[in-house]
Amino acid sequence: MQILTWEESKKAEQYFQLAWKIAQNATCERSKCGCIIVKNNIIIWQWRNTPPHNLESQRRCTCDKNSYHRKVTDKTCCIHAEQRAIMDALKNHPNEIEGADLYFMRLDKEWNMSKSWKPYCTICSKMALDTWIKHFFLWHENGIAKYDTEEYNLLSYQYNE
Ligand SMILES: [Zn+2]
Ligand SMILES: [Zn+2]
Repeated sequence: MQILTWEESKKAEQYFQLAWKIAQNATCERSKCGCIIVKNNIIIWQWRNTPPHNLESQRRCTCDKNSYHRKVTDKTCCIHAEQRAIMDALKNHPNEIEGADLYFMRLDKEWNMSKSWKPYCTICSKMALDTWIKHFFLWHENGIAKYDTEEYNLLSYQYNE
C-alpha cells in the first residue's frame, strides 16, 4: 500500500468527488456507496449500491446482520457498488478492465464523504483481483491509499479492528 503524494492525490480526489456524487443516488437504505473504474485516465464505469436489479422484493436493508445464520456468507443487503461497477464494466468494456484502477467511497449518515476503514470486503477484493483490476484506491484519514489488488485481497482477509 502506498499513500499518494499531494501531487498524485489531486487527480484521485476528482474521482473520489465523482464517487461521492454517484453514491448519493444509491438506493440502499443502510449505507450509500459509489465506485469509479478508471483505465488510462478514462472512466470506464461508475455505479452505486442497490438491491439486486433494484427489486423491492429483494430489499433487506433493515435486516439485522446478526439475525443471519453463520453460513450466510454475505450479510450486506445490496449489491456492492464495486461489485456492480465491476460486473457492468465486464459487460460493457470487457477488454479495458484489465489493469484498471478502482476508487471506492462510502457516505456518512449525512451523505458527506467519509474516510474509509481498512479493507475488509472479501467479496469485492476477490472480484477486483479476479478481473485483473490493478489498483484499489481508498481515502483513509491519513491520505489516499493505493493498494495493489493482490495485496488488497490479502489485507481484507486479515482485517481486524
Ligand atoms: Zn441495502
Ligand atoms: Zn464489497
